[in-house]
Amino acid sequence: MTYVFGPVSSRRLGQSLGVDLLPSKSCTWNCLYCQLGKTKKFVAKRQEFFPREEILEEIRQALALNTNLDWITFVGSGETMLYKGIGWLVVEVKKLTTIPVAVITNGSLLYLPEVRKELFQADAVLPSLNAGSEALHDQICRPVSGLTFQQHVEGLVAFRREYKGRLWVEVMLLGGINDTDAALNDLANVLEEIHPDMVHLVLPTRPAPEQEIRLPSQERLEQAIAMLSRVAVVINPLKGNMDLRHAPDMLEAITAIVSRHPVQRRELHKAIADCFSGESDKADEVMRGFFATGRFTLVEHNGEPYWVMQQGEKSGFNS
Ligand code: SF4
Repeated sequence: MTYVFGPVSSRRLGQSLGVDLLPSKSCTWNCLYCQLGKTKKFVAKRQEFFPREEILEEIRQALALNTNLDWITFVGSGETMLYKGIGWLVVEVKKLTTIPVAVITNGSLLYLPEVRKELFQADAVLPSLNAGSEALHDQICRPVSGLTFQQHVEGLVAFRREYKGRLWVEVMLLGGINDTDAALNDLANVLEEIHPDMVHLVLPTRPAPEQEIRLPSQERLEQAIAMLSRVAVVINPLKGNMDLRHAPDMLEAITAIVSRHPVQRRELHKAIADCFSGESDKADEVMRGFFATGRFTLVEHNGEPYWVMQQGEKSGFNS
């Protein structure tokens, strides 16, 4: 499949079918920590990159194959709201199924009323807020020219006022960058203006090709949870597990996931072993075979090996 991947399992969204609407990697930001590497299409102009009917047809097929889904999640190789027509897709998907729909976005385009409107029918929206000051926002998110921190915050505040679904703000906590008391205090103040239903803390557990990013210490993580909890319920960033048991083609399913983000070798091994009643030796053998295809390579991050796509390997996108 070109646009649909997974299901991927996570603590926050359970079994989630991913839908990626973008050519790799198209974004309004070029985040320090981005696991997809440097932004290739650094834009703020929205467009219908691929025909919406084609995407809907793939979702329809995936729904027929996967019966145990908790969410359908629009997320992908860049900023989801750059896809003009996502609102139509959300509405059409909801006609096909009662499975709730989530949209993961950096939120940078929410200052535009037409963008906010496209999200009204989603059951949950997860925008990013990584800093409570312009200087830190610019340092971490590195937005395309013309997008400002003030616009970002105003967009989030306006969206909260208008949107009736669940608003879960994601905060990426970076060791030594936005985990100081001053940075967390600024963040809490801005979050207070926004009134999210929850704050999801996320950690840079996957390698960022652009530069080495540090995890926050346990003490800083606990401090972040304590300080942001004054605003909303904070979800502690525990990792979910990958589930490949229902994948019609395991190699293709892994390729689709690894092409969107690096995957810890340990996590992959467990997911493959789960397909063979927990047989570790069988998982080793399968992994050796998949690795021998030349599609993947290994990188190390915080002492852990990860599978990433081999340079030059197509990631399954049309462009
Ligand atoms: S918003 Fe997401 S896709 Fe865009 S640069 Fe940041 S982390 Fe990467």
